[in-house]
Amino acid sequence: MNKINSVSVSHVNRSIWGHLAEREKTLPLVTPLDIYPQFQETRGSWFWESGMAVVEIETVDGIIGHGWCEDGCDATARIIDNHLSRLLVGQDAAEIEGLWDRLFRASLPYGRKGSALHAISAIDIALWDIAGKSVGKPVYELFGGPVRETIPVYASALHPVGHEKVAAEAKAYVADGYQAMKMRFPFGPGDGIDGMRENERHVANVRDAVGDDIEIMADAYMGWDFAYAKKMVRLLEPYRLAWLEEAFLPDDLNSYAKLRQETNIPISGGEHEYTHFGFQQIIEKGAMDILQPDLRRCGGFTVARKIAALAAAAGLNVIPHAYGPVHLHFAQGHTNVPMIEHFPVPCWDELPDVDREPIFHGEPQPSGGYVTMSREPGLGVTVNDKIFT
Ligand SMILES: [Mg+2]
Repeated sequence: MNKINSVSVSHVNRSIWGHLAEREKTLPLVTPLDIYPQFQETRGSWFWESGMAVVEIETVDGIIGHGWCEDGCDATARIIDNHLSRLLVGQDAAEIEGLWDRLFRASLPYGRKGSALHAISAIDIALWDIAGKSVGKPVYELFGGPVRETIPVYASALHPVGHEKVAAEAKAYVADGYQAMKMRFPFGPGDGIDGMRENERHVANVRDAVGDDIEIMADAYMGWDFAYAKKMVRLLEPYRLAWLEEAFLPDDLNSYAKLRQETNIPISGGEHEYTHFGFQQIIEKGAMDILQPDLRRCGGFTVARKIAALAAAAGLNVIPHAYGPVHLHFAQGHTNVPMIEHFPVPCWDELPDVDREPIFHGEPQPSGGYVTMSREPGLGVTVNDKIFT
């Protein structure tokens, strides 16, 4: 038995999504607050400050595991410090399934979704890091992987910054080897028929730039409603989208299910959903074709493996939200996780100063649209000390 000796958590003024979170504060895209004129201009008008929590768990044998999650409001770190850590210290670090269940049950009165699950996710990720390091194997091998030699990534950016810039950006991703790419819609129900036409032109422009052999997708970031989406899919069907992402609020599963009946465009979502219970509801409703959990939100590897199993039995693929070591290990260990998201810096932009110091040392980076994993034990990365200062 390898007892947990200590649990500590640090709040860091950085986003786990890297440069995208900072840049998206001023980039055009439709958001769930777009229907309110005072929040229409930019996401930065309502978004929280970038922040993440880094959890460090040390065992009596001296093995240290790290996990992390978003923590823009500094709530996650407090949940761990003020409650969850005392359910972990003195327990066997290898008992990951049981510890997850205890944390979930203990946090039910204030938990189930949101910050409490972010906290449990970070702890779970750290425990899997320890499990891998304990046996000298990468985490994906503990899941039965690798299931493929390399992991395909898709380029996720293409904000509506003007047709010429977007076309050049899309062509640059093809030149870099990406086989798939995702754009953001500029407009929603508050912007009328002109907005709908501009949404269509944005998609048409990307399709035209990349040709027929590249997959293109589009993200509405929860900014539409059913009546609007029903009209939009008619306009979008000729462009052969590989999926239409997060058309509605995460809880509005009836609209997702109805939209699936309206169109042949695959419907995706799930980056704001939590636990296997939440994803089971998506599946039962027939609401989505592709599930997109974020393991740093939904409950960590322990939950994501259950989601992958539910999805496999329902004939669905899982394509996690955002990039990072956690999602790379998940993809490398599960057959129905064919691809993950990557946020390249567009050819017309540059990395913000705040993001020049990497969050991790040893994080695999894509080359030619693919990532090759190492066989380093655990998650195979170390958190960069400099981000704590
Ligand atoms: Mg998304």
